Amino acid sequence: MAYLTSWFTHPSAPLIISGPCSVENERQILATAQALAQIPEVKLLRGGIWKPRTRPDAFEGRGEEGLAWLLKAKQETGLPVATEVATPEHVEMALKYGVDALWVGARTVVNPFSVQQLADALRGVDIPMFIKNPVSPDLNLWIGAFERFQKAGLKHLAAIHRGFSYYKETAYRNYPMWEIPIELKRMLDVPVITDISHICGCRELLQNTAQKSVDLAFDGLMVECHHDPSRALTDADQQITPDALGELIGALLPRSQQADGSDPMLAALRSEIDDIDAELLQLLARRMNVSSQIGEYKKEKGLTVVQMDRWKQILSEHLNTGMELGLSPELIKKVFEAIHHSSIQRQTSIFENS
Ligand code: PEP
Ligand code: MN
Repeated sequence: MAYLTSWFTHPSAPLIISGPCSVENERQILATAQALAQIPEVKLLRGGIWKPRTRPDAFEGRGEEGLAWLLKAKQETGLPVATEVATPEHVEMALKYGVDALWVGARTVVNPFSVQQLADALRGVDIPMFIKNPVSPDLNLWIGAFERFQKAGLKHLAAIHRGFSYYKETAYRNYPMWEIPIELKRMLDVPVITDISHICGCRELLQNTAQKSVDLAFDGLMVECHHDPSRALTDADQQITPDALGELIGALLPRSQQADGSDPMLAALRSEIDDIDAELLQLLARRMNVSSQIGEYKKEKGLTVVQMDRWKQILSEHLNTGMELGLSPELIKKVFEAIHHSSIQRQTSIFENS
């Protein structure tokens, strides 16, 4: 425990939190915890006791009996334990059983009423608390949750980045949007842990995402582990065995040994650039599609491909807007000439294919 509380003020080594998504039965939590205790980097055992489920008939956690098993795992392994709380009753029960640390889940952080109730229930209690990001990419909502717990007097606060729901289909269960936790860290100066399990939603992406977290200088990982992942009652696709976690940790390249991107600020900015470039590409593709539609329409109406007045007008408008945004006219001219040129080519080929 002393390690845990000192980590909050001086997160010198990455904190690894691991354990099952849900505490399912005594055997499962004990077997998993005993294996995790063999991995020296694992400093905190997680176990979900009350599970927020999307559909009502899913497994919703074992409740109080699960807490007793979690505490037994603590006694047998010496690992401090953490669980998710969503209501004042959860807080009361977790404190009664002597849980060492708590976290607030993504579905709870979206609701300021719930967060305030938790903060009130914890007023004056000095327990380490992790605050997950809200499901939606809303930095202020995340910051607001920190403020509510700070006002209630909690001194050991850290963030958990578990990705965000995103309007587009991606390979991730929850899109990382790394720039948001980076900005949170910059603004609040709190340690930020990466919950790679809920970001990825599958085992295949875990290693790369964990490495990215290290590259971006985040302060630790949360990884869901189960002694028999495929039989897990919740999040079976993303849980790994303790052995696999040991391998994952062993394969991580420490930042200082990276040939490239060893500067965390540089790595963070580059990652932001990669995200922006990805958006630029999407926008370009969208623009070209609209351009094709215009090509079809011009052909149908007997209009010329090049409409010089329109082209002159948009270029001069973009040059002005670009100047206002601090962009050089040279860049704007080059970019839009290239785009316009390519549009013309596309429309010309539509005209030719009659
Ligand atoms: C969890 O950690 O098991 C969990 C429910 O996560 P989240 O709140 O990030 O969805
Ligand atoms: Mn889970």
